[in-house]
Amino acid sequence: MNITKAKEILKHQFGYDEFRLHQEAAIECVLAKKDSVVLMPTGGGKSLCYQIPALLFDGLTLVVSPLIALMKDQVDALKNNGVNAAFLNSTLTNREQVEVFQKVKSGELKLLYVAPERLLQAGDQFIEFLKNINVSLFAIDEAHCISSWGHDFRPEYLQLRKLKTHFPNVPLIALTATADKLVRRDIIERLTLKNYELFVSSFNRENIHYRVEPKRNTYAKLLDYLETKRDESGIIYCLSRAAAENLADDLRSEGFNALPYHAGLSKDERDKNQELFLKDEVKIIVATIAFGMGIDKSNVRFVVHTDLPKNIESYYQETGRAGRDGLESEALLFFSWGDVQKLKGFAEVEGNKSQSDIMLRKLNQMGEYGDLKACRRRFLLKYFSEDLAEDCGNCDNCGKNFEKFDGTIIAQKALSAVARTNQRMGLSYLVDFLRGSKSQKIWDSHRQLKTYGVGADVSKDEWFEYFRDIINQGFLAQTDGQFPVIVLTEKSEDVLKGKVKVELFKVTEKEEKKTASLVAVAAPPYIKPLFDELKNLRTNFAIADNVPPYVIFSDATLVEMATYLPLTASDMLKISGVGDLKLEKYGGDFLYEIKSYCETNNLDTRIDLKVVKREPKRRTKRDTNGDDTYTVSLKLFNDGYSVEEIARRRGISVNTVEMHLIRFIPTGEVELEELLPDHKIAEIRDAVVKFGESNALSPIKEYLGENYSYGEIRAVLASMI
Ligand code: ADP
Ligand code: ZN
Repeated sequence: MNITKAKEILKHQFGYDEFRLHQEAAIECVLAKKDSVVLMPTGGGKSLCYQIPALLFDGLTLVVSPLIALMKDQVDALKNNGVNAAFLNSTLTNREQVEVFQKVKSGELKLLYVAPERLLQAGDQFIEFLKNINVSLFAIDEAHCISSWGHDFRPEYLQLRKLKTHFPNVPLIALTATADKLVRRDIIERLTLKNYELFVSSFNRENIHYRVEPKRNTYAKLLDYLETKRDESGIIYCLSRAAAENLADDLRSEGFNALPYHAGLSKDERDKNQELFLKDEVKIIVATIAFGMGIDKSNVRFVVHTDLPKNIESYYQETGRAGRDGLESEALLFFSWGDVQKLKGFAEVEGNKSQSDIMLRKLNQMGEYGDLKACRRRFLLKYFSEDLAEDCGNCDNCGKNFEKFDGTIIAQKALSAVARTNQRMGLSYLVDFLRGSKSQKIWDSHRQLKTYGVGADVSKDEWFEYFRDIINQGFLAQTDGQFPVIVLTEKSEDVLKGKVKVELFKVTEKEEKKTASLVAVAAPPYIKPLFDELKNLRTNFAIADNVPPYVIFSDATLVEMATYLPLTASDMLKISGVGDLKLEKYGGDFLYEIKSYCETNNLDTRIDLKVVKREPKRRTKRDTNGDDTYTVSLKLFNDGYSVEEIARRRGISVNTVEMHLIRFIPTGEVELEELLPDHKIAEIRDAVVKFGESNALSPIKEYLGENYSYGEIRAVLASMI
C-alpha cells in the first residue's frame, strides 16, 4: 500500500490537490500499521488522516468521538464523497442500530463512528463483537479528553486503553488540537502506545486576522462592525448568560439575525439554535463559553469577544473556531484593563494558593495580550512555545506604527488632573475632565479648576492609551478594589516639576492597510454576486438532503468557483473540494449557474489562472482534434459505442460519460430514448412530477432506489426543460 494511492483518493474522492501540514506523513505512518499521535490546529484537516487509510484498508475503521451531535454531519459529509460510513449513538432507534450492526457484519462499511461509552457497554460486549469482524484501524478523535490536564477530561476515555490490550496489532491514530506537552504525554501513556510516531503541526492559523479594540462604546462599535459583516456567520462571546441573552435581543431588534446560546437555556432550545446556526439559517450566535465544543462549522467568518477570556488557552481555542475552511476570518477582542480587574475575583481558587497564582498569572498574560504593542500572532504562538520568524502582517498591530515621542507635556497634564482632583477619581472621569466634558457627572467644583479642558485636543481613545502607558511607567498608579482610582506615585513629582522627560507612543495606521472582509486566499478576487447565487443553490441542495450546507460544498470551494469560473466538467474538477462523486451529483447544476452568469455578464473562464500544483493523473480532457471532452463522448456515441464502452475506452467513469451525453439532450443531438429504456423514463418522469422540478435530486434518487443513477435522473430532467 503506498502514498500514491492515498493521493489519488485525495484528488478523486475528496477533490483536493495536495496534502496539508502533516497529513501525508501521518497517513504513511498509519499505512505502515504503526500507531500515531497527530496534533493539528482546528481546521488543519485531521479527519483525512484516518479517512484516507480507512479507504485503503480492507476492513473497518472505528472512529471514537465524544461529539455525538457532530456524528451525523460527519457521516453525511463522507457519504456525499462516496464513502460508506455510519455512526452508532444514543440518537438512533433500536432498529436503526440493528441495521448498522448488519452493515458492519457484512463488511460493506468503511468507517464507523461511535461514542466512547459505546465501547464499554455491557462489559466488553462491544469489544467482543469487534473481535469477530475485521477491524483495520482505530481512530481516537479529540484524544485530549483522555487527559485530566486537558480542558475537557472525560473519564470514559480512560477505558480506551483496552483497545491496545485486546487489539495489539491493529494500528491506532490519536488526534487532537491541544498542543500541551502534559496532555500529549497523557495520551501516549494512557492509550499505552509503544511503537508510535508523533506529528506536531504548527498551530499558526494564518487566515485569522487578530484585532483588539478598546472596550468603550462597545455596543456602538459592535454594530458598526457587524454592519460590515452582513450575511457572514460569526460567534460573539460574552461572560455571562444575561449578557448573552440581552445582546442577542438587542441585535435582533437592530435587524441582525442573532440567537443566544448558554447553559441557562433548555437543551432543546440550545440544540435548536445550534442547528439553525450550522445550517446558515441564523448568522450570529451570542454565546457564553458553553458554546463551542460541538461546533464544526467551517465558514465562521468572525469571532468577537465582548469580554476578556480568562486565559490565552481559552482565547485561542475560541478564536480558532473562525475560518476552518481556510478563508480569511477575523478575531476581534474588546479589551480593557477593567476586565482584568473584574476577573481577578473569578481567578481565586478557594483554599488553593498555588492554583490561584497560576490562574492569576494566566489572566495577566491575557491582559498583556490586550495591551500589546507588537505583533499579536507572535505573542500567541510564543505562548504555545512556537517562534514566528517575523511579524505576521495579518494582525492589527502589524498594520500600525508605534512611534515614540516626547510626551512630557501630556503626562504633566494627566498628573496635574490627578493632583487637582485630589487623587479621588477614576480613569474615565479624568479623561472626561481633561477633555472639558460638559457632562453632568463632572463636579461643579472641578469645572473651576485650571486643568479642566486642557486636554481637549487629544481624543478619548488616545487619552486612555496615554494613561495606560503612564501608569505602566510608574508615573501614576491605579488602586485595586471595586472602584479603582488613579493616584500619584513617588515618581510623579519629578514629572510635574519638569525634571524628567516622559516618552509615550503615538499610534498611526500604516499605509497599505489590508481590508478585513471576506477575501479569497486565491487571487483574482471572487465575484460576490455569483458567489451568493451559488450559495443559494447550495442551500437548496442542503435543505433537500437535510444536511448542513458545508456537506455539499464548503465556502472555500464556492469562492474558488466564483473566482475561476469553471465552465466544463474538467474545469470543475480543478476546483478544490470537487471530487468525482460531487461532480456527478452537483456539478451540472453549479456549472449551469456559472455558465448562465458568464453568458449574462460576458465573461470567460479563468480556470487557467488557477495553479494546480500537481496535475491529476487522468488526462482525458482534450482529444487530438481539439474537441472538448463532451464532443469526444458524443462522437463515440454516434459511432455506435455504448456508454459503458465509451467509459472504458476513455478511462473515465460511466457517470461522467452520461453527464457528457446529457448535455446534448436539450439540443436534440442525443435522444433520451437512446440512453435509457422506456420504463425507466416513465418511472423517473413520475418521480420528478411528484417531487417537483426543483434542484433537489437526492429525494428523487432516494425514492427511486439503487437501480436508478443520478445520471439517469438528470437525463430525464434535461429532456423536460
Ligand atoms: P480538523 O478536524 O483538523 O479541525 P477537518 O478534518 O474538519 O479539520 O478539516 C477542515 C477542512 O479542511 C475541511 O473542510 C476539509 O475538507 C478541509 N481539508 C482537509 N484536508 C485538506 C487538504 N489537503 N486540502 C484542502 N482542504 C482540506
Ligand atoms: Zn502581526
